[in-house]
Amino acid sequence: MSRILIVEDEERIASFVKSGLESHGYQVDVVNDGIEAMHWAKYSNPDLIILDIGLPGKSGIEILNELRGTGNMVPVIILTARDSVSDRVSGLELGANDYMAKPFAFEELLVRIRLRLKDATSQASSSLSELSVGEITLNFYDRTVVFKGKKIELSGREFALLELFMRNPNRVLSREQLLSNVWEMDFDPNSNVVDVYVRYLRQKLDENVIQTVRGMGYKFKS
Ligand code: CA
Repeated sequence: MSRILIVEDEERIASFVKSGLESHGYQVDVVNDGIEAMHWAKYSNPDLIILDIGLPGKSGIEILNELRGTGNMVPVIILTARDSVSDRVSGLELGANDYMAKPFAFEELLVRIRLRLKDATSQASSSLSELSVGEITLNFYDRTVVFKGKKIELSGREFALLELFMRNPNRVLSREQLLSNVWEMDFDPNSNVVDVYVRYLRQKLDENVIQTVRGMGYKFKS
């Protein structure tokens, strides 16, 4: 079971995220000030930290700076109301793995948590900031995609789906596998949402990037 530390001084948000994550099987601790957060991050060894920036005691940026400065590479998702460019840039430069601006959809946060936890376990094979397969490069810092030298805009879900494909090149992935990894576990298995998003990716990238394997699912061609 993965352990997640939520560092958030807004009680309403902290308890909303905590109960959501607990209902998905995560073990969750919440701290609401920066100094306490530093202590927990060091001594309780969480698998992932959800970090607010504006905090009493010590800011999220200071916490991140201290953690990375001591070589602590725990995945950090910054969750903050300050959607200003400078906060975002400094957070990512200091080594946050992801960034979400409040208000946010819980479902999207969950997707990103799953991806970052997965990244952390397969880190040896991939760099933290980029993933390249064939002519596609995903950049996790600014969540952009470059295809054949051209920058392409993707939604959060499209990005997550493409990332999953790229981590499993030339392997057939069933709709159920794609649904459970990119969407909620309990998503209606009869939903055609996977097909819809595969179509979006084909339209934005290239028709041949993702192949349909009849009766089985989809395959990303490297
Ligand atoms: Ca705050």
